[in-house]
Parts: sequence; C-alpha cells; structure tokens
Amino acid sequence: MELTVLGASGSYGAPAGGACSGYLVRDGDTTVWMDCGNGTFPLLQEHVDPGDLSAVVITHEHPDHCADIYGLHVLLRYGLEQSGLPVFAPEGAEERLGCLVASWGDTFAWNAIDDGDKARVGSIDLRFSRTDHPPPTFAVEAAAGGRRLVYTADTGPEWSVDAFGAGADLVLSEASYLDDNIPVAIHLSAAQAGRAAREAKAKRLILTHIWPQVDRQASVAEGSEAYGEPVTLAVPHLVTEV
Ligand SMILES: [Zn+2]
Ligand SMILES: [Zn+2]
Repeated sequence: MELTVLGASGSYGAPAGGACSGYLVRDGDTTVWMDCGNGTFPLLQEHVDPGDLSAVVITHEHPDHCADIYGLHVLLRYGLEQSGLPVFAPEGAEERLGCLVASWGDTFAWNAIDDGDKARVGSIDLRFSRTDHPPPTFAVEAAAGGRRLVYTADTGPEWSVDAFGAGADLVLSEASYLDDNIPVAIHLSAAQAGRAAREAKAKRLILTHIWPQVDRQASVAEGSEAYGEPVTLAVPHLVTEV
C-alpha cells in the first residue's frame, strides 16, 4: 500500500502551492482519494487519472477537507460522463455540500459513515472512528496486504490513534500547532501527536495539517522528541510505502 500526499496545509492554503488536506491511498489497482481539501484536485491529476479513482473519503465538512469534490464532480459528470463513484462521508454531507453544485446527479454513490463503520474498496479495507473535532469527523484506517495506515483527520486531544489498536505501520497525524500555542483545543500540537503515536506503538509517524504560520522545523523537533524517534513532514507529492 502506498500513500501520496497531495496537500498538507492546516485549515487554509499556504503560499507556494500549499494545498490543504488531501491524500491518495493506493494498493494495486485500487486508488482512494482521502480528503479533497481545497487545492488538492490539481495535484491529484499529476498522480492519477481522476477517471480511475476507486472511491473518495471525506473525513468531515470543513472546506479544507472537502471543497475540491466539486471539481471532481464537474469532470466526471460533464467531461468523462462517469457515474456512481463511491463517496464515504458523514451523514448529510451530500445535501450540505450540494450548495457547491446545482445537482450532484448520479455522479457519486454517497455512503454515510459513522463511528466504527467498515467498508471495503477494491483491495483496501477502511475503518472509521469519530474524533474530537466539532463537526462529525472520522479518522480513517486503511488496511491492505497486512499493512495499516491510520489517518487522524482533524482531532483534539480527547481522541487518539489507539482507537484503531496499537502498532499501526504508519500514522499520518494532524499537528496543527506547537505545544506553547494551542489557540483552540480542536486540533493537536506536534507534541500531542507524537505522544499519542508513541503510546499507540505506531511504527512511523508523519505530521500533517500544520498551520501555515507555524515553523515546520519546530514541529519536527517537538514531534520527534515526544514520539521518541524522528518524525517526518507531509509535503505535496511525497510518496511513501506504508
Ligand atoms: Zn482541517
Ligand atoms: Zn476540521
């Protein structure tokens, strides 16, 4: 299984191509677009033909995780004339995100997700866990070939990656802030992300969703100290084996 980072900027776009949250999870012929934050659809097209996507996962309805679904809709409906692409999203997302378009038509097959839900897309098994973040928000576990990727989506410290069990091969954790400046407790600091991954015995940790004004090297230092091993940063076009 392979993870491709399309965008990793927390909450709003960063200068110089810093798109918001978006990732590709791939295993063989299966490709899942996990979060379609603003700015990620152009980058996606550098890695995959959108007509070849197997499914889309929207972790929650904050625009930095879902806004670019409209671009995929336009291409699939009017460009490629494809229909029925599975979308996994919180209950009601189809209606509320419908304000982005006149009508979704039959472009997507919407599937409401809830805490503990499971789904299979091609060769990838998905599980969802409700996080500590105001709109209904779901962390994602993607498993294939005996490997496990855990993506925190957005969360505060009252949820942890150990909700999916210990020993994930790769944890992709939000780390919006630094420990000495946490404006609102609906996100994690790099230290909180590091501690949670260490306690859940994660085998590798990548930090993402860092706010654009936060010093990334400070995030790496803080996260690495808390995790106990070096962490890496999610950056656009990073491709890594899980
Ligand atoms: Zn966010
Ligand atoms: Zn959010």
